[in-house]
Amino acid sequence: MKNYFVLFACCIPVKGHSRSTICDLQRNTFELIPNILYEILTEHAHQSMQEIFAVYDNQYNEEIQEYMEFLVSKEYGFYSNSPLHFPKISLDWQTPFSITNALIDFDEQSTHQLSTIVPQLSALYCPTIELRFFYTPTLTALTENLELFEDTAFRCIQLIIGYHHDFSAERLVKLLQKYPRLQNITVHSTPVSSINLKIRSKGIVFTNQKITSEACCGNISPYYFTANISTFTEAQHFNSCLNRKIGIDKRGYIKNCPSMNKNFGHIDDIPLKQVVENVHFQKLWKVNKDQVLDCQDCEFRYICYDCRAYVANPNNELSKPAKCQYNPYEARWEDQVTT
Ligand code: SF4
Repeated sequence: MKNYFVLFACCIPVKGHSRSTICDLQRNTFELIPNILYEILTEHAHQSMQEIFAVYDNQYNEEIQEYMEFLVSKEYGFYSNSPLHFPKISLDWQTPFSITNALIDFDEQSTHQLSTIVPQLSALYCPTIELRFFYTPTLTALTENLELFEDTAFRCIQLIIGYHHDFSAERLVKLLQKYPRLQNITVHSTPVSSINLKIRSKGIVFTNQKITSEACCGNISPYYFTANISTFTEAQHFNSCLNRKIGIDKRGYIKNCPSMNKNFGHIDDIPLKQVVENVHFQKLWKVNKDQVLDCQDCEFRYICYDCRAYVANPNNELSKPAKCQYNPYEARWEDQVTT
C-alpha cells in the first residue's frame, strides 16, 4: 500500500465559503467537494494517510479513505510513496501582448470605420477580435470588412451578426473557408431555436437570442465556466473579462468594454495605443475575483468570468456582477441552475 495521496498537478483545489472545488485544468472540468476535503488536500498535502488519520484522532479514517478512493476513481489523484517527486505547476500568468482581445460594436447608425481600427490593433499585435453587429449587415459589407484583416497580426476573428435568410449554413461555411482567421460566426435573432455546427476547429451558431445591444452581455452561468490553465492562471492575478481587453462601443467611444459608462476618447480623435498605455485604462485589468465582494468567497472564482459593467451595487465598483444568481454563502443558485 502506498502511503501518500497526491493530486495530479493540473487538479487544483479552490476553497469557497460553504464548499470547495477541484478545478481540472487539463480536462476543463471541476468537481464539488466539501471544505473538509479541501483542508485535507491542502493543509495536509505532504502527510501520509496514517498521519492524516491521526490529525483527525482516527475518528474518520473510513470517511477519509472513501474521499480518497472517490478522487482516484475520478482520476483527480493517485497514491505514491514519493509525493515530492510531483511538484505543483506554476500559477503565474504572462503574455507578450499589450492587448489580447478587442470587442467592436456596430449598429445601423454607427459611423466608426473598421479600416481605421484594424491597422491600429494589428500594430499592437492584438491576436483576437470580436465584431458584434446588433443588426444585419449585408454579405458584401461583411466580406469587405474581413478583407481588411489580410496581412495583419490577428489570429482569430469572431463574428456576431443579425439573421438574414441569405446567411445559410453553406454561405457561412464558405466564409469560414475563405478567411482562415475567421473562427466563429454567431447569427442572432434567428426564427428557429439554437443550432450549433462544428467545422473542424471552427463553429457556426444560429440562436434565437436577440443580441441587439451591449446589454445582452455580462451573464454569469456555469455554462460559461472555463477551467483551463490559461484562464485559471490569468484569473489568479487579473480580471477574467477586462484584462488586456479594449472595447469600442457602437458610437465609436473607446472603453474597457462597450457596456461601460466611462470612455477614454473617440476612435476618430485618439490613437488606440495611447489609450492602452494610459494607467487609468489599465486600472480594471488588475481587479481579480479575490477583490470582488461575494466572489472572493466563491468556489468558482477562478473559472468564472467577471463583469465590471453591470454590478450589483453601482456605487461600489467592487460589488459582484449584477447578473450572477449564485449565493456562495448558501451554495445555491437563485435561478435553480444546479451544480
Ligand atoms: S459569486 Fe457569481 S460571479 Fe462571483 S465567482 Fe461566484 S458564480 Fe462567479
